[in-house]
Amino acid sequence: MNNTKIWLSSPHMGGNEQQFVKEAFDTNWVAPLGPNVTGLESDLESYLSNQSSVGALSSGTAAIHLGLILLDVTAGDTVICQSMTFSASANPILYLGATPIFIDSESDTWNLCPIALEQAIVDQIAKGKKPKAIIAVHLYGVPYKIDEIRTVADKFSIPILEDSAEALGSSFKGQKCGTFGDIGVLSFNGNKIITTSGGGAIVTPTAALKEKAIFFATQSRDDAPHYQHSEIGYNYRMSNICAGIGRGQMEVLDDHVALRRAMHDFYVEVFKDVAGISVFTVPNEDYFANYWLSAILVDPAITGGMTRETIRLALETENIESRPLWKPMHLQPIFEMYPYYGDKIAETLFDNGLCLPSGSNLTDDDRSRLKAALLQLVGQIPNIQYAAGL
Ligand SMILES: *Cc1c(COP(=O)(O)O)cnc(C)c1O
Repeated sequence: MNNTKIWLSSPHMGGNEQQFVKEAFDTNWVAPLGPNVTGLESDLESYLSNQSSVGALSSGTAAIHLGLILLDVTAGDTVICQSMTFSASANPILYLGATPIFIDSESDTWNLCPIALEQAIVDQIAKGKKPKAIIAVHLYGVPYKIDEIRTVADKFSIPILEDSAEALGSSFKGQKCGTFGDIGVLSFNGNKIITTSGGGAIVTPTAALKEKAIFFATQSRDDAPHYQHSEIGYNYRMSNICAGIGRGQMEVLDDHVALRRAMHDFYVEVFKDVAGISVFTVPNEDYFANYWLSAILVDPAITGGMTRETIRLALETENIESRPLWKPMHLQPIFEMYPYYGDKIAETLFDNGLCLPSGSNLTDDDRSRLKAALLQLVGQIPNIQYAAGL
Protein backbone atom coordinates (compact mmCIF):
# COMPACT_ATOMS: atom_id res chain seq x y z
CA MET A 1 0.00 0.00 0.00
CA ASN A 2 1.25 3.49 -0.74
CA ASN A 3 1.61 6.15 1.91
CA THR A 4 0.34 9.28 0.14
CA LYS A 5 -1.51 11.77 2.33
CA ILE A 6 -5.18 11.10 2.95
CA TRP A 7 -6.87 14.47 3.38
CA LEU A 8 -9.91 15.36 5.43
CA SER A 9 -11.65 16.94 2.46
CA SER A 10 -9.97 17.95 -0.78
CA PRO A 11 -11.25 19.39 -4.08
CA HIS A 12 -12.82 16.85 -6.44
CA MET A 13 -13.26 17.92 -10.03
CA GLY A 14 -16.02 16.37 -12.09
CA GLY A 15 -14.52 16.80 -15.57
CA ASN A 16 -16.34 19.64 -17.31
CA GLU A 17 -15.04 22.49 -15.17
CA GLN A 18 -12.20 23.32 -17.58
CA GLN A 19 -14.64 23.48 -20.49
CA PHE A 20 -16.65 26.23 -18.77
CA VAL A 21 -13.42 28.06 -17.87
CA LYS A 22 -12.16 27.72 -21.45
CA GLU A 23 -15.40 29.21 -22.78
CA ALA A 24 -14.89 32.17 -20.47
CA PHE A 25 -11.40 32.72 -21.92
CA ASP A 26 -12.57 32.17 -25.50
CA THR A 27 -15.29 34.80 -25.14
CA ASN A 28 -13.14 37.11 -22.94
CA TRP A 29 -15.56 37.00 -20.03
CA VAL A 30 -12.62 37.26 -17.62
CA ALA A 31 -14.39 39.49 -15.09
CA PRO A 32 -16.56 39.32 -11.99
CA LEU A 33 -19.63 38.92 -14.17
CA GLY A 34 -20.59 36.91 -17.23
CA PRO A 35 -22.50 33.85 -18.46
CA ASN A 36 -20.91 31.46 -15.95
CA VAL A 37 -21.95 33.67 -13.04
CA THR A 38 -25.57 33.85 -14.17
CA GLY A 39 -25.45 30.17 -15.21
CA LEU A 40 -24.21 29.05 -11.79
CA GLU A 41 -26.89 31.17 -10.11
CA SER A 42 -29.66 29.59 -12.13
CA ASP A 43 -28.20 26.08 -11.59
CA LEU A 44 -28.27 26.73 -7.85
CA GLU A 45 -31.77 28.20 -7.99
CA SER A 46 -33.12 25.11 -9.70
CA TYR A 47 -31.19 22.85 -7.30
CA LEU A 48 -32.93 24.71 -4.45
CA SER A 49 -36.30 23.97 -6.15
CA ASN A 50 -36.70 27.50 -7.56
CA GLN A 51 -38.04 28.77 -4.24
CA SER A 52 -35.28 31.31 -3.79
CA SER A 53 -32.96 33.67 -5.61
CA VAL A 54 -29.21 33.08 -5.53
CA GLY A 55 -26.41 35.65 -5.87
CA ALA A 56 -22.88 34.32 -6.49
CA LEU A 57 -20.24 36.01 -4.32
CA SER A 58 -16.51 35.83 -3.68
CA SER A 59 -16.90 33.77 -0.48
CA GLY A 60 -19.32 32.40 2.07
CA THR A 61 -17.94 34.92 4.55
CA ALA A 62 -18.88 37.75 2.16
CA ALA A 63 -22.38 36.26 1.94
CA ILE A 64 -22.71 36.30 5.75
CA HIS A 65 -21.47 39.90 5.85
CA LEU A 66 -23.97 41.03 3.20
CA GLY A 67 -26.72 38.91 4.77
CA LEU A 68 -26.31 40.74 8.07
CA ILE A 69 -26.42 44.07 6.22
CA LEU A 70 -29.65 43.01 4.47
CA LEU A 71 -31.06 42.13 7.91
CA ASP A 72 -30.23 45.70 8.94
CA VAL A 73 -27.51 44.87 11.47
CA THR A 74 -25.52 48.00 12.31
CA ALA A 75 -22.98 49.14 14.90
CA GLY A 76 -24.16 48.66 18.46
CA ASP A 77 -26.65 45.89 17.62
CA THR A 78 -26.44 42.40 19.09
CA VAL A 79 -26.49 39.25 16.96
CA ILE A 80 -26.98 35.71 18.23
CA CYS A 81 -24.65 33.06 16.83
CA GLN A 82 -24.17 29.33 17.36
CA SER A 83 -20.96 29.00 19.37
CA MET A 84 -19.80 25.72 17.87
CA THR A 85 -18.96 26.71 14.30
CA PHE A 86 -16.19 27.99 12.05
CA SER A 87 -15.12 31.54 12.92
CA ALA A 88 -16.42 32.81 9.56
CA SER A 89 -19.98 32.48 10.94
CA ALA A 90 -19.22 35.08 13.60
CA ASN A 91 -16.50 37.39 12.21
CA PRO A 92 -18.89 39.48 10.06
CA ILE A 93 -20.78 40.49 13.25
CA LEU A 94 -17.60 42.26 14.30
CA TYR A 95 -17.00 43.71 10.81
CA LEU A 96 -20.26 45.63 11.38
CA GLY A 97 -19.38 46.82 14.89
CA ALA A 98 -22.14 44.67 16.37
CA THR A 99 -21.80 42.38 19.41
CA PRO A 100 -22.04 38.59 19.13
CA ILE A 101 -23.97 36.57 21.72
CA PHE A 102 -22.98 32.91 21.65
CA ILE A 103 -25.30 29.97 22.22
CA ASP A 104 -24.54 26.37 23.12
CA SER A 105 -25.27 23.31 20.95
CA GLU A 106 -27.78 20.56 21.69
CA SER A 107 -26.57 17.00 21.50
CA ASP A 108 -28.85 15.64 18.71
CA THR A 109 -27.63 17.82 15.83
CA TRP A 110 -24.67 19.57 17.55
CA ASN A 111 -26.29 22.80 16.37
CA LEU A 112 -28.07 25.76 17.99
CA CYS A 113 -29.91 24.70 21.18
CA PRO A 114 -33.47 26.08 21.00
CA ILE A 115 -33.79 26.20 24.80
CA ALA A 116 -30.57 28.17 25.36
CA LEU A 117 -31.57 30.35 22.39
CA GLU A 118 -34.88 31.32 24.00
CA GLN A 119 -33.22 31.93 27.38
CA ALA A 120 -30.69 34.22 25.74
CA ILE A 121 -33.33 36.22 23.89
CA VAL A 122 -35.49 36.64 27.01
CA ASP A 123 -32.47 37.69 29.06
CA GLN A 124 -31.20 40.11 26.44
CA ILE A 125 -34.63 41.72 26.09
CA ALA A 126 -34.82 42.05 29.91
CA LYS A 127 -31.44 43.81 29.74
CA GLY A 128 -32.92 46.29 27.30
CA LYS A 129 -31.91 45.04 23.86
CA LYS A 130 -33.56 42.61 21.48
CA PRO A 131 -31.03 40.77 19.29
CA LYS A 132 -31.21 41.81 15.65
CA ALA A 133 -30.60 38.40 14.01
CA ILE A 134 -29.91 34.73 14.73
CA ILE A 135 -27.08 32.92 12.91
CA ALA A 136 -27.87 29.18 12.80
CA VAL A 137 -25.45 26.68 11.25
CA HIS A 138 -25.86 23.16 9.77
CA LEU A 139 -22.56 21.75 11.11
CA TYR A 140 -20.92 19.06 9.00
CA GLY A 141 -24.04 19.06 6.80
CA VAL A 142 -26.46 17.97 9.54
CA PRO A 143 -29.49 20.30 9.58
CA TYR A 144 -30.15 22.24 12.78
CA LYS A 145 -33.50 21.77 14.56
CA ILE A 146 -35.34 23.66 11.85
CA ASP A 147 -38.86 23.70 13.36
CA GLU A 148 -37.79 24.46 16.95
CA ILE A 149 -35.43 27.28 15.95
CA ARG A 150 -38.04 28.81 13.63
CA THR A 151 -40.63 28.71 16.42
CA VAL A 152 -38.36 30.64 18.80
CA ALA A 153 -37.30 33.13 16.10
CA ASP A 154 -40.92 33.84 15.12
CA LYS A 155 -42.05 34.13 18.73
CA PHE A 156 -39.71 37.12 19.12
CA SER A 157 -39.83 38.28 15.46
CA ILE A 158 -36.07 37.91 14.96
CA PRO A 159 -34.84 36.90 11.47
CA ILE A 160 -32.62 33.86 10.89
CA LEU A 161 -29.41 33.96 8.88
CA GLU A 162 -28.97 30.32 7.84
CA ASP A 163 -25.28 29.43 7.50
CA SER A 164 -25.56 26.54 5.06
CA ALA A 165 -21.87 26.72 4.06
CA GLU A 166 -21.39 23.04 4.95
CA ALA A 167 -24.84 21.79 3.94
CA LEU A 168 -25.41 22.18 0.21
CA GLY A 169 -27.24 18.95 -0.68
CA SER A 170 -28.68 18.39 2.80
CA SER A 171 -32.41 18.70 3.45
CA PHE A 172 -35.06 18.61 6.17
CA LYS A 173 -38.48 17.06 5.52
CA GLY A 174 -37.59 17.14 1.83
CA GLN A 175 -36.74 20.85 1.69
CA LYS A 176 -33.18 21.81 0.78
CA CYS A 177 -30.86 23.46 3.30
CA GLY A 178 -30.10 27.03 2.32
CA THR A 179 -33.81 27.84 1.93
CA PHE A 180 -34.89 27.89 5.61
CA GLY A 181 -33.46 31.21 6.72
CA ASP A 182 -34.68 34.74 6.06
CA ILE A 183 -31.29 34.80 4.33
CA GLY A 184 -29.23 31.70 3.41
CA VAL A 185 -25.50 31.33 2.84
CA LEU A 186 -23.52 28.80 0.78
CA SER A 187 -19.74 28.32 0.47
CA PHE A 188 -17.66 26.90 -2.35
CA ASN A 189 -14.30 27.01 -0.62
CA GLY A 190 -11.77 24.35 -1.65
CA ASN A 191 -12.72 21.98 1.16
CA LYS A 192 -16.50 22.15 0.74
CA ILE A 193 -18.76 19.59 -0.97
CA ILE A 194 -18.36 21.45 -4.26
CA THR A 195 -15.83 24.19 -4.88
CA THR A 196 -15.20 27.15 -7.16
CA SER A 197 -11.62 27.25 -5.74
CA GLY A 198 -13.03 29.99 -3.51
CA GLY A 199 -16.50 31.44 -3.55
CA GLY A 200 -19.91 31.58 -1.97
CA ALA A 201 -23.51 32.56 -2.52
CA ILE A 202 -26.33 34.39 -0.82
CA VAL A 203 -29.80 32.84 -0.97
CA THR A 204 -32.74 35.21 -0.65
CA PRO A 205 -36.52 34.65 -0.60
CA THR A 206 -37.11 37.36 -3.22
CA ALA A 207 -35.40 38.54 -6.40
CA ALA A 208 -35.47 42.10 -5.03
CA LEU A 209 -33.34 41.12 -2.03
CA LYS A 210 -30.86 39.36 -4.31
CA GLU A 211 -30.59 42.55 -6.39
CA LYS A 212 -29.92 44.51 -3.22
CA ALA A 213 -27.18 42.03 -2.23
CA ILE A 214 -25.56 42.34 -5.66
CA PHE A 215 -25.81 46.13 -5.41
CA PHE A 216 -23.75 46.03 -2.19
CA ALA A 217 -21.40 43.39 -3.68
CA THR A 218 -20.56 45.61 -6.66
CA GLN A 219 -19.60 48.83 -4.82
CA SER A 220 -23.14 50.16 -4.30
CA ARG A 221 -23.30 52.07 -7.56
CA ASP A 222 -26.37 54.28 -7.87
CA ASP A 223 -28.16 54.55 -11.20
CA ALA A 224 -26.10 57.27 -12.90
CA PRO A 225 -23.74 57.52 -15.90
CA HIS A 226 -20.85 58.49 -13.61
CA TYR A 227 -19.85 56.65 -10.42
CA GLN A 228 -22.35 57.81 -7.80
CA HIS A 229 -22.59 56.27 -4.32
CA SER A 230 -25.02 56.88 -1.52
CA GLU A 231 -24.26 53.71 0.45
CA ILE A 232 -21.05 51.88 1.44
CA GLY A 233 -20.11 49.28 -1.16
CA TYR A 234 -18.09 46.06 -1.24
CA ASN A 235 -16.23 44.15 -3.93
CA TYR A 236 -17.77 40.75 -3.27
CA ARG A 237 -18.99 39.44 -6.64
CA MET A 238 -17.84 36.04 -7.92
CA SER A 239 -15.45 35.91 -10.87
CA ASN A 240 -16.76 34.39 -14.12
CA ILE A 241 -13.70 32.08 -14.10
CA CYS A 242 -14.52 30.70 -10.66
CA ALA A 243 -18.18 30.42 -11.61
CA GLY A 244 -17.11 28.24 -14.57
CA ILE A 245 -15.59 25.77 -12.11
CA GLY A 246 -18.85 25.95 -10.16
CA ARG A 247 -20.97 25.07 -13.21
CA GLY A 248 -18.88 21.95 -13.76
CA GLN A 249 -19.18 21.09 -10.08
CA MET A 250 -22.98 21.45 -10.11
CA GLU A 251 -23.08 18.54 -12.58
CA VAL A 252 -21.54 16.26 -9.94
CA LEU A 253 -23.06 17.68 -6.75
CA ASP A 254 -25.49 14.81 -6.24
CA ASP A 255 -22.68 12.28 -6.85
CA HIS A 256 -20.58 14.06 -4.24
CA VAL A 257 -23.45 13.88 -1.75
CA ALA A 258 -23.82 10.14 -2.38
CA LEU A 259 -20.07 9.55 -2.04
CA ARG A 260 -19.77 11.54 1.20
CA ARG A 261 -22.75 9.63 2.58
CA ALA A 262 -21.01 6.39 1.60
CA MET A 263 -17.96 7.50 3.62
CA HIS A 264 -20.29 8.03 6.58
CA ASP A 265 -21.69 4.49 6.11
CA PHE A 266 -18.11 3.22 5.96
CA TYR A 267 -17.33 4.69 9.41
CA VAL A 268 -20.62 3.44 10.86
CA GLU A 269 -19.56 -0.05 9.74
CA VAL A 270 -15.99 0.26 11.09
CA PHE A 271 -17.17 1.39 14.54
CA LYS A 272 -20.45 -0.49 14.75
CA ASP A 273 -19.47 -2.86 17.54
CA VAL A 274 -17.12 -0.53 19.40
CA ALA A 275 -18.50 0.81 22.68
CA GLY A 276 -17.25 4.30 23.48
CA ILE A 277 -16.93 5.49 19.87
CA SER A 278 -20.03 6.73 18.06
CA VAL A 279 -20.38 8.15 14.56
CA PHE A 280 -22.32 11.44 14.38
CA THR A 281 -25.61 10.61 12.66
CA VAL A 282 -28.89 12.46 12.06
CA PRO A 283 -31.50 12.02 14.81
CA ASN A 284 -34.34 10.76 12.58
CA GLU A 285 -35.53 10.41 8.99
CA ASP A 286 -36.76 14.02 8.74
CA TYR A 287 -33.08 14.90 8.47
CA PHE A 288 -31.05 14.20 5.32
CA ALA A 289 -27.35 15.05 5.72
CA ASN A 290 -24.76 15.46 2.99
CA TYR A 291 -22.25 14.35 5.70
CA TRP A 292 -19.78 16.90 4.40
CA LEU A 293 -17.47 15.65 7.15
CA SER A 294 -17.93 12.41 9.07
CA ALA A 295 -17.21 12.85 12.77
CA ILE A 296 -16.91 10.56 15.76
CA LEU A 297 -17.29 11.05 19.50
CA VAL A 298 -14.87 9.20 21.74
CA ASP A 299 -15.72 8.53 25.38
CA PRO A 300 -12.41 7.82 27.17
CA ALA A 301 -14.26 6.44 30.21
CA ILE A 302 -15.45 3.54 28.03
CA THR A 303 -12.47 3.22 25.66
CA GLY A 304 -10.06 2.66 28.55
CA GLY A 305 -8.51 6.10 28.24
CA MET A 306 -8.21 6.28 24.47
CA THR A 307 -9.09 9.87 23.51
CA ARG A 308 -9.80 11.63 20.25
CA GLU A 309 -6.25 12.95 20.49
CA THR A 310 -4.82 9.39 20.73
CA ILE A 311 -6.67 8.61 17.52
CA ARG A 312 -5.66 11.84 15.77
CA LEU A 313 -1.96 11.33 16.53
CA ALA A 314 -2.03 7.66 15.51
CA LEU A 315 -3.65 8.56 12.18
CA GLU A 316 -1.08 11.30 11.67
CA THR A 317 1.73 8.73 11.83
CA GLU A 318 -0.05 6.92 8.98
CA ASN A 319 -0.15 10.17 6.98
CA ILE A 320 -3.92 10.41 7.48
CA GLU A 321 -5.40 13.80 8.30
CA SER A 322 -8.09 14.15 10.96
CA ARG A 323 -9.13 17.19 13.01
CA PRO A 324 -10.91 18.01 16.27
CA LEU A 325 -14.38 19.51 15.89
CA TRP A 326 -14.75 23.27 15.61
CA LYS A 327 -13.54 24.88 18.84
CA PRO A 328 -16.52 26.84 20.20
CA MET A 329 -16.38 30.58 19.56
CA HIS A 330 -16.95 31.53 23.21
CA LEU A 331 -13.65 29.76 24.03
CA GLN A 332 -11.70 31.61 21.34
CA PRO A 333 -9.38 34.43 22.45
CA ILE A 334 -10.99 36.82 19.94
CA PHE A 335 -14.55 36.13 21.18
CA GLU A 336 -14.27 35.02 24.83
CA MET A 337 -15.33 38.42 26.24
CA TYR A 338 -18.81 38.24 24.69
CA PRO A 339 -21.96 36.81 26.35
CA TYR A 340 -22.53 33.05 26.21
CA TYR A 341 -25.61 31.03 27.14
CA GLY A 342 -25.43 27.30 27.59
CA ASP A 343 -24.49 24.24 29.48
CA LYS A 344 -21.13 23.07 28.12
CA ILE A 345 -22.52 20.73 25.46
CA ALA A 346 -20.31 22.33 22.81
CA GLU A 347 -17.26 22.14 25.11
CA THR A 348 -17.82 18.44 25.66
CA LEU A 349 -18.29 17.82 21.95
CA PHE A 350 -15.08 19.71 21.23
CA ASP A 351 -13.16 17.72 23.86
CA ASN A 352 -14.30 14.35 22.50
CA GLY A 353 -15.02 14.84 18.80
CA LEU A 354 -12.87 14.15 15.76
CA CYS A 355 -13.53 14.69 12.04
CA LEU A 356 -12.27 11.90 9.79
CA PRO A 357 -11.34 11.88 6.08
CA SER A 358 -14.61 12.36 4.22
CA GLY A 359 -13.80 13.43 0.66
CA SER A 360 -15.89 12.25 -2.29
CA ASN A 361 -12.58 11.44 -4.02
CA LEU A 362 -11.28 8.86 -1.53
CA THR A 363 -10.35 5.57 -3.19
CA ASP A 364 -10.77 1.92 -2.21
CA ASP A 365 -7.06 1.94 -1.38
CA ASP A 366 -7.58 4.95 0.94
CA ARG A 367 -10.49 3.18 2.62
CA SER A 368 -8.37 0.04 3.14
CA ARG A 369 -5.65 2.10 4.81
CA LEU A 370 -8.21 3.93 6.93
CA LYS A 371 -9.90 0.73 8.00
CA ALA A 372 -6.62 -0.98 8.87
CA ALA A 373 -5.43 2.02 10.90
CA LEU A 374 -8.73 2.42 12.75
CA LEU A 375 -9.19 -1.29 13.49
CA GLN A 376 -5.63 -1.48 14.79
CA LEU A 377 -6.40 1.40 17.17
CA VAL A 378 -9.69 -0.05 18.30
CA GLY A 379 -7.95 -3.38 18.89
CA GLN A 380 -5.71 -1.64 21.46
CA ILE A 381 -8.64 -0.72 23.68
CA PRO A 382 -8.06 -2.79 26.87
CA ASN A 383 -10.85 -5.21 27.74
CA ILE A 384 -12.68 -3.97 24.70
CA GLN A 385 -16.41 -3.91 25.27
CA TYR A 386 -18.48 -4.41 22.23
CA ALA A 387 -21.67 -2.43 21.94
CA ALA A 388 -23.44 -5.52 20.71
CA GLY A 389 -22.94 -6.98 24.20
CA LEU A 390 -20.36 -9.64 23.37
C1 LIG B 1 -16.63 27.44 5.16
C2 LIG B 1 -17.56 28.07 6.12
C3 LIG B 1 -17.89 29.44 6.07
C4 LIG B 1 -17.16 30.42 5.21
O1 LIG B 1 -17.15 30.22 3.88
P1 LIG B 1 -15.92 30.77 2.98
O2 LIG B 1 -16.42 30.54 1.60
O3 LIG B 1 -14.73 29.96 3.34
O4 LIG B 1 -15.76 32.22 3.28
C5 LIG B 1 -18.84 29.93 6.93
N1 LIG B 1 -19.44 29.14 7.82
C6 LIG B 1 -19.15 27.84 7.94
C7 LIG B 1 -19.88 27.02 8.95
C8 LIG B 1 -18.19 27.26 7.11
O5 LIG B 1 -17.88 25.97 7.25
